[in-house]
Amino acid sequence: MNNMLSTFNIKEKYDVVVIGAGPGGSRTAQLCAQKGLDVLILEKRPEIGAPKRCAEGIEKNQLLNLGFEENEKFIAQTIDRSIVYTISGEEIKQDSDKKKGYILERKLFDKAMASKAAISGAKILVNTEVIDLIKEDNYICGVNIEYNGKTYKIKSDVVVSAEGVEGKRVKEVLNLSPPKSNEIMSGYQYEMENIDLKDPHQLEFFIGATIAPGGYIWIFPKGEKRANVGIGILSNCEKSAKYYLDAWISNKSSLQIGSILEENAGAIPVGGFLKKMTTNGFLAIGDAARQVHPLHGGGLHEATYAAKIAAKVICEAKSENNYSDNFLDKYNKMWWNERGKELSCVNKIKNAFQKMSDEELNLIFHLIKATSINHLNSGNLIEISKLLLKTPKLIKFSKYLL
Ligand SMILES: Cc1cc2nc3c(=O)[nH]c(=O)nc-3n(C[C@H](O)[C@H](O)[C@H](O)COP(=O)(O)OP(=O)(O)OC[C@H]3O[C@@H](n4cnc5c(N)ncnc54)[C@H](O)[C@@H]3O)c2cc1C
Repeated sequence: MNNMLSTFNIKEKYDVVVIGAGPGGSRTAQLCAQKGLDVLILEKRPEIGAPKRCAEGIEKNQLLNLGFEENEKFIAQTIDRSIVYTISGEEIKQDSDKKKGYILERKLFDKAMASKAAISGAKILVNTEVIDLIKEDNYICGVNIEYNGKTYKIKSDVVVSAEGVEGKRVKEVLNLSPPKSNEIMSGYQYEMENIDLKDPHQLEFFIGATIAPGGYIWIFPKGEKRANVGIGILSNCEKSAKYYLDAWISNKSSLQIGSILEENAGAIPVGGFLKKMTTNGFLAIGDAARQVHPLHGGGLHEATYAAKIAAKVICEAKSENNYSDNFLDKYNKMWWNERGKELSCVNKIKNAFQKMSDEELNLIFHLIKATSINHLNSGNLIEISKLLLKTPKLIKFSKYLL
C-alpha cells in the first residue's frame, strides 16, 4: 500500500468503483453503499460540480425523488411555468402543477449528491483520473488511476462508468462508434446578471431553424434579474453555438444590458442510445451511456434514474457473486423497458423537427398548442403523427416517426 491511498484509508479492492462524481455516479454510489457495498468514487476534477456544464433545470418531482427537500440551499430559483416561442411569434404556455421545477446551483447540487454518497459510506477521491481499466480473464476488474503525477491500481468487482459525455472508457470497452451528426448537440451558455426577465419564475424556450439549427435557445431564471441564457444546436453546423447565441442576444436589449458571470460550453448526446451498456464487470450510465432526453437535452433525471437501476442490478450481482455480462444484462433490459422505449419515440420526433424550416416549425407548434405539448416530451408518436398527417405541408415529416 502506498502513501496517498493509505493516508485516506483507500483500500486495494472495492465491490464497486465508480468513475465520475456527477449526479449519475454519486447516485449509483449512494444506493450501492446504502445496501452495504464497499464503494469508491473517482473524480478527475479538483472540485465536484465545477465548472458546470448545464442550464441547471430539473422538475420538482425528479428532485424530491432523490431524497431532497423543497428548501435545499442548492436551489437557486423555483419555476412555476414555461413558455415556448417560435420565430413568427407562436407562443405555447405551460402552467400546470406537473411542470413546477427548479433551477439549481449545480456546483452545490453535485456536491450535495456526492455528500449523500459519502454519508452512506462511499469513499470519494477528487483530482484523481482513471487512466485505464484493468482487465483479467476477459473481465474488467479495476482501474489504474493518476493522482498528483503518480499512478495507482485499485481492484473491484464492478466498474461503473459515469464519466459524462466524453466517456473515454465506455468508448474503449464497448467499442462504440462516434455518435451520428444528429445525435450530438453543441451547447453554449452565459450565466447573466442584471438582465430584464419577463417573469423570473418562468422558463423561456425559443425555437427556429435559423436561430438555433436543430435545437433551441433557453432562458432559465436563477433570480429576479439573473439567468442561464444558452443554446443547443446540431454539432455539425457550419457556425458555432456561441456564434448563434451571440447573434440572437445582439437583438435583445433586455439581455444586452446585463453582465456575464460565467461562460459554459458542452456537448449533449441526443438519441444515440446504446442497446448494450455492459460487459463483464462493467456498466455505463448517464451521459456516458448517452441517456439524455433527446428533445430538451435534460440528463439529470436520466442519469439518476439509470443509477437506480444500475445500483439494483449491482447489488443483486453481489449477492449472487456473478458480475458477468450475462448477469449485468438485466440493467440493459430494465433501462430499455423503463426509459429507452419512451426516449426512442421522443428521438423520432426530434429527428422530424430537426428537418423542419422556421415556417414548418411554426406550423407544428401552432397545431401542438391546440392539443398538448406533453405529447412531445413523452414521445406520443400517435398524437404527433395525427398532426403531421392532417397538414399537407407537414405530411412529409411523418416518415421520421415510423
Ligand atoms: C449546455 C448544457 C446545458 C444542460 N442543461 C441541462 C438542464 O438544464 N437540465 C438537465 O437535466 N440536464 C442538462 N444538461 C445535461 C446534464 O448536464 C447532464 O446530462 C448530466 O450532468 C449528466 O450527468 P452524469 O453524471 O452522467 O455526467 P456528468 O455530470 O458529466 O459527470 C461526469 C463526471 O465524470 C468525471 N470524469 C470524466 N472522466 C473521468 C475519468 N477518466 N476519471 C475520473 N473522473 C472522470 C467528470 O469530471 C465529471 O465530473 C445540460 C448539458 C449541457 C452541456
